[in-house]
Amino acid sequence: MQVLYVSTEVYPALKTGGLADVNAALPPALIRLGADVRLLLPAFPALLKAAGQLERVAKLDTVFGTAPVEISRGTLDGVPAYFIVAPEFYARRGNPYTDAKGQDWPDNHLRFALLGWVAARFADSAFDGWRPDIVHSHDWHAGLAPAYLAARGGDRPGSVFTVHNLSYQGQFPAETFGALHLPPHFFGLQGLEFYGKVNFIKAGLHYADRITTVSPTYAREIQTPQQGCGMEGLLRSRAGALTGILNGVDPQEWNPASDPRIPARYDAGHLEGKAVCKTALQTGLGLGLNAAGPLFGAVSRLTTQKGLDLLLGALPRLTAGGGQLALLGAGDADLEQGFRAAAAAHPRAVAVRIGYDEDRAHRIVAGADVMVVPSRFEPCGLTQMYGLAYGTLPLVRRVGGLADTVTDAAVPEGDGFVFEETNVAALGAALERVFSVWREPHIWAALRRQAMRADFGWEPSARRYLDLYRGLRPHA
Ligand code: ADP
Repeated sequence: MQVLYVSTEVYPALKTGGLADVNAALPPALIRLGADVRLLLPAFPALLKAAGQLERVAKLDTVFGTAPVEISRGTLDGVPAYFIVAPEFYARRGNPYTDAKGQDWPDNHLRFALLGWVAARFADSAFDGWRPDIVHSHDWHAGLAPAYLAARGGDRPGSVFTVHNLSYQGQFPAETFGALHLPPHFFGLQGLEFYGKVNFIKAGLHYADRITTVSPTYAREIQTPQQGCGMEGLLRSRAGALTGILNGVDPQEWNPASDPRIPARYDAGHLEGKAVCKTALQTGLGLGLNAAGPLFGAVSRLTTQKGLDLLLGALPRLTAGGGQLALLGAGDADLEQGFRAAAAAHPRAVAVRIGYDEDRAHRIVAGADVMVVPSRFEPCGLTQMYGLAYGTLPLVRRVGGLADTVTDAAVPEGDGFVFEETNVAALGAALERVFSVWREPHIWAALRRQAMRADFGWEPSARRYLDLYRGLRPHA
């Protein structure tokens, strides 16, 4: 089974969110099961740096008014990867999607159209004599790959499109359509048009042979008006082609027994190291060492999606109960400001670090007692699973992948705390439940044992993707 895996970011070389973690772990898991998986990525500087020596396999004239682009082959952490070397599109400062000020690049429609267009060119065996059986593309950036394949027609590879977050859609004015060089009728309701605009994620959802998303609950939720971001009708009509496959956790990266980034290692049978991690975290952040309550941790983008405004609202209750908070994140200016102010007002109880810091993320997950993830919506979510692995009980809203991975303490197999409503009072009530269980150390210990037993290895999920591929290409 030959699979071209089309995306934009891969941990550790380039990461803006959980997508990079998935892209680092799923391809190797598929390769271990015998699939010939190769990545296709824009040649962003950070990726090129990680890829080392490259070999040029093709030079292409494009339809996007660029100089000819090169396709070069290398590897990323041992996984074969093709890079689209188009410096005028990809060799820029800032992150893959925005400039240094956080503004979308004005030519994003062309930059990411090129990614989908090159993916479809692989069907011609144009590169390296290698033709994929499946083109598996991810999120809106790669959403045009299924459209270009559909436009090509004939004997083409099967297409799979995975939605990691439906709220980022890649919408552009109607006038950009001509520059995409797709057949004119693709700009319509039965195509990639969405309320008069070009919509890249809709292209993926409409044209892919199969759609997946990253948890079973999110797969159901996105078929409703509440969570469908306007795509619910289309998704309902394609329900037979849509599956939810839960993300996993990479044990090479997130395992308290071997994690080199934390001050002491531990496992479910030897938790002394976890206490060391907690003290070190408190000390490192200037938090009080004699707090009676649990230490809550959060590692997150600070956006409306993640519900951290609820946490900010519930902070008085958290600190009144003797709890502490260690938060690492970056994003919306008002949230950053709100958390900074809370930390300034309660320096022994609330510590806030604004920015992106992989080491600190590990130290918080290991040192905290509770991982807070109060998301409004959550396609899968990773930090609650990291929390489980590290015996740091997740406190989550019952939504998306959070609902699929955390079981409330009220039932015998519980391993965390789950609340329903999206408001400060509901989170506050959940905090009270955390405090009451905290006062019963044997119950806390039982929950922690249960949490650390949870297994989110990638293999079962990788098998499900492989089954999906085989359903499309039974003889490959
Ligand atoms: P999303 O992809 O929506 O941001 P996920 O929970 O799926 O959310 O994945 C987030 C990933 O990014 C996790 O690996 C988390 O540890 C990491 N992360 C988020 N914010 C930060 C930060 N400020 N510093 C370091 N890592 C972060």
